[in-house]
Amino acid sequence: MIVVLKNGVSEEKRAQLIDWLGEQGVKVHISQGEFQTVLGLIGDTTRVDMDLLGSLSIVDSVKRVTEPFKCCSRKFHPEDTVVDVSGVKIGGGNFVMIAGPCSVESEEQIVGIARAVKASGAQLLRGGAFKPRTSPYDFQGLAATGLELLRVARRETGLPIVTEIMGTSALDLFQDVDMIQVGARNMQNFDLLKELGRLRKPILLKRGLANTLKELLMSAEYIMAGGNERVVLCERGIRTFDDYTRNTLDLAAVPMLHELTHLPVIVDPSHATGLARMVRPMGLAATACGADGLIIEVHNDPLHALCDGAQSLRPEEYEKLADEVRRIREVAVR
Ligand code: PEP
Ligand code: MN
Repeated sequence: MIVVLKNGVSEEKRAQLIDWLGEQGVKVHISQGEFQTVLGLIGDTTRVDMDLLGSLSIVDSVKRVTEPFKCCSRKFHPEDTVVDVSGVKIGGGNFVMIAGPCSVESEEQIVGIARAVKASGAQLLRGGAFKPRTSPYDFQGLAATGLELLRVARRETGLPIVTEIMGTSALDLFQDVDMIQVGARNMQNFDLLKELGRLRKPILLKRGLANTLKELLMSAEYIMAGGNERVVLCERGIRTFDDYTRNTLDLAAVPMLHELTHLPVIVDPSHATGLARMVRPMGLAATACGADGLIIEVHNDPLHALCDGAQSLRPEEYEKLADEVRRIREVAVR
């Protein structure tokens, strides 16, 4: 971290600042120019409050040189992390296809869709049992029954399951879930992230509706700092000013995250666009720009889906897309 002091700061004030920084465990290198003094902070600066430092009357500006995240930083771990979800590998050249309905609705629905997406090459089955709906009057998911139906679908097809947790109180119910999803709305539920850090289970961490990549990585850091390194990041679109699509898919996030972190990065073109007809082009684009996988909503009867029918592919549309994704993969950048 670099701290530029204002012109004409007294020796005494400067010494007080250096003492205060020393108390926080960092060493200070002073570089005295003709007009300006620059302090270089050496050591672990993660605990230094940059905003507080910048607000001091003698400080002109503060710049972080190293990022505040460590466990997930590529600087500290240059090799790609490969996350294993019950035998399915994600990252480091392993591309994953995750598919299934937005919500589990019935045994017939989830088992039927699981069979169809498996036949098209999907390796993991998604399906929400606890749904974070904007309106309390909308379908909230089948809860524990939904989890039970996901287990049935796993037994029938062999596909490991990915499903969303909404809070710490449900943790016990998720013991045999293969991969736990943290949805966009819970990306900064820090109590939940800490609890997931205690587990040794793969976590799918989705980017929040209006969160920066740094905030996404800091949330991953919460899980990893607890000892759980099995984190997969998911770009699922962010809020911008345009409303033709449900969200704006930030595809540059994929190569940028690959630079910043060793964690796998997958893309959700379903929630990013909100429109079934946009899922194919954006799924292909995500594959081409180096995503480590796609999570896609598929429904046997989108017109009657209890949630997100407008963005759900029919099984035959998914099959076509999966085929095209495989072809793009042959020439993709990663
Ligand atoms: C979902 O995957 O069903 C979901 C609710 O996604 P998000 O958290 O990205 O909105
Ligand atoms: Mn959905």
